[in-house]
Amino acid sequence: MSSRDRYLATIRKYQANPDAPGDSTIWSRTLECAPRATLRDMQLEKLSAAFDYLFECSPFYRERFERAGLRPGAIRSMDDVRRIPVTRKLDWIDDFASHPPWGTFSPLTSAPHDPWMVFSTSGTTRQPRLFRSTQHDCAMLAWLCARALWSYGVRPGMAAMNCFYYGPSVAAWGMHHGLVRVGCSVIPGGPMSTDRRAYFVEALRPSVLLGTPSTLLTLGRRVKELGQDPSRSGVRILVCAGEPGAAVPSTRQRLQDLWSADVHDDFGCTEVAQAPLGYTCQAAAGAGDGPVTVHVMEDAFLVEVLDPESLEPVPPGTRGTLVVSNLYSESTPFLRYDMGDWIRLTEDPCPCGRTHARAVGGLLGRNDHCLKVKGLQFFPGTFEDAVRSIEGVSDEYRIEIFDDAIELRNSVRVTVQPERDDVSLDEREIAARLRGTLGISVEVRLVAPGTLPRTEGKGARFFHRGSAS
Ligand SMILES: [Zn+2]
Repeated sequence: MSSRDRYLATIRKYQANPDAPGDSTIWSRTLECAPRATLRDMQLEKLSAAFDYLFECSPFYRERFERAGLRPGAIRSMDDVRRIPVTRKLDWIDDFASHPPWGTFSPLTSAPHDPWMVFSTSGTTRQPRLFRSTQHDCAMLAWLCARALWSYGVRPGMAAMNCFYYGPSVAAWGMHHGLVRVGCSVIPGGPMSTDRRAYFVEALRPSVLLGTPSTLLTLGRRVKELGQDPSRSGVRILVCAGEPGAAVPSTRQRLQDLWSADVHDDFGCTEVAQAPLGYTCQAAAGAGDGPVTVHVMEDAFLVEVLDPESLEPVPPGTRGTLVVSNLYSESTPFLRYDMGDWIRLTEDPCPCGRTHARAVGGLLGRNDHCLKVKGLQFFPGTFEDAVRSIEGVSDEYRIEIFDDAIELRNSVRVTVQPERDDVSLDEREIAARLRGTLGISVEVRLVAPGTLPRTEGKGARFFHRGSAS
């Protein structure tokens, strides 16, 4: 048996309830509620098979593994896992450039394979980085997304409008296949104008909306302007991904109030976690105050929380960089990939009964987006939470950081606007509120309603400026 066949057989051995949910609350109970020792054994068996498959079929990984003194069959315990070199996004750049279009890191380069679908990462001026999804991968994606949707309360017969971009985007297609697997009617709602989406909400009354928090806030505001009440539109469940907003308390509160719906957070990444790596449960949706906790799908991924410098594990319950091993994909079974996000995990039991660990506060922010202002560290989400917790301030805002190279310090300007013409705000009051929540003084600039454009998709609200003007 080839290493690829052995790997795929191991994946299939641990697939439970692939086509239909096992019960009314949890799709794959034997996996989602497995004792943690069972989960560990399952992860290790899959990881060991994935290692051998990568060794045999990926020239890029074989070279790295050999340099680390590892041979096929080397991964027998969790301690062995720690010997596998950590990979970062930048490690692939040269490989992409010298072996276009795929690079040699994917094991598909030398394995016979099925037809594929291509996904790429968004943005940036570089050439798009391309990732394939085989038929095996698409089937796994449908199953894993269906399990997450089941956790969000999505049920057969519901209509769902999927506002993710139906281009080479994993969020749109993963969720699409997941919705079909659950048995939902699907309205492909992206890309299209906000007014077109508002029409579909009114005409087709979907129970579920899927999109980035920015998209769903903008859509709700527009529905309101057009004379309808989003909270009476029939929407009951919001599935948010692509931005951290659903785990940012004030953004989450705004979404809940606007739509009168449960708000769920779903996270992953194109490179290594096309299926939901993070997914909330009903216990998180009903949890009121306090940080949102997001389960990590541990039968499909191995998640490690490491110190970003030393790459050693941080003490349980503390913050570190998120290093993920994919345990289900034929084309991207990458091991120990540093996603570049801060995360903090708890293994405390969840009232929902799942044993999968939870990310406290979701993804906490990108390692490289952490801002140092006046000696303190901030994530963009901290500003988002502070600004959106102020009543009457519109969803849109702008944060500008100005560096003073001579004085070696920086300052922050926050531009906000009232949410409507009949709302009056006071710059000094807002500055005092922000000083209270952030612990630093910021300059507040108030502009007229509508000055800051509405954002969709992944909103850009942070700007790093050279010097103040
Ligand atoms: Zn739970």
